[in-house]
Amino acid sequence: MSEPDLTPLLDLLPELLAGRPLVVLTGAGISAESGLPTFRGPGGMWEGNRPEDLATPEAFESDPEKVWRFYAWRLEKLRGARPNEGHLALARMERILPRMTLVTQNVDGLHAAAGSRNLLELHGTLLVARCTKCARRSPAPEGPVPPLPVCICGGLLRPDVVWFGEPLAPETWEAAVRAAEECAVFFVVGTSSVVAPASSLALLAARGGAYVFEINPKETPIAPLAAGVFRASATKVLPAIAKALVRTIP
Ligand code: NAD
Ligand code: ZN
Repeated sequence: MSEPDLTPLLDLLPELLAGRPLVVLTGAGISAESGLPTFRGPGGMWEGNRPEDLATPEAFESDPEKVWRFYAWRLEKLRGARPNEGHLALARMERILPRMTLVTQNVDGLHAAAGSRNLLELHGTLLVARCTKCARRSPAPEGPVPPLPVCICGGLLRPDVVWFGEPLAPETWEAAVRAAEECAVFFVVGTSSVVAPASSLALLAARGGAYVFEINPKETPIAPLAAGVFRASATKVLPAIAKALVRTIP
């Protein structure tokens, strides 16, 4: 397949973004090029289990060791991963655009590592663990599991992430909804847009009159909402957008 020509869309964005609020929603696809597998793509399986079956309170209840081994594997991958050109371009854009909010479904901490500050991590972070008894937070375990990590109170620790079937932190979610409703432009980057409620943010933005743009090499259910689609990888599109902005926004 030939490379899509992104120029017409890139020419349009600086004017659209100047002075107006931008929201960017990212998913696992933006970290794929940092070597972290997406959930649904190839390499997204772990020991024959679907992550969707391991990232649940029920799975933890019935076999905490299996769930922790899955997270220890993800943490190990994470320790070798660095922010890529896509993460870095979003951090640069935040410095040019004063009204930009970055909302991520990722738990890998790579946006913060890249320097993004106005960041809402909807699903928490892998790097932190939380006590199932006293709710105290501590750094995620560094070594292999078993042994199961425990809190200083003796309670079992769990990853401080939001599992399937659990509610998002209300203040984080409300901030994301407000940002989506108020923005003029909304980018959906590297997410299959099937995990609710994050997937509803683009819809809220579109209803509020925002221009929605999708950045994803594959088509997703968001496409019909979109004012424009960039069918290419995040590391190709985001640096090009950041460059177009630097050129045109003083
Ligand atoms: P997903 O696996 O469902 O979808 C990934 C999407 O990224 C796909 O649509 C794919 O076409 C696209 N993609 C792949 N490579 C890309 C690239 N180079 N550039 C742009 N897009 C690319 O992921 P999702 O929608 O984020 O699923 C949601 C759940 O997965 C979330 O709960 C999230 O917490 C979790 N998750 C997080 C991580 C992480 O933190 N890195 C990794 C795996 C899963
Ligand atoms: Zn405790």
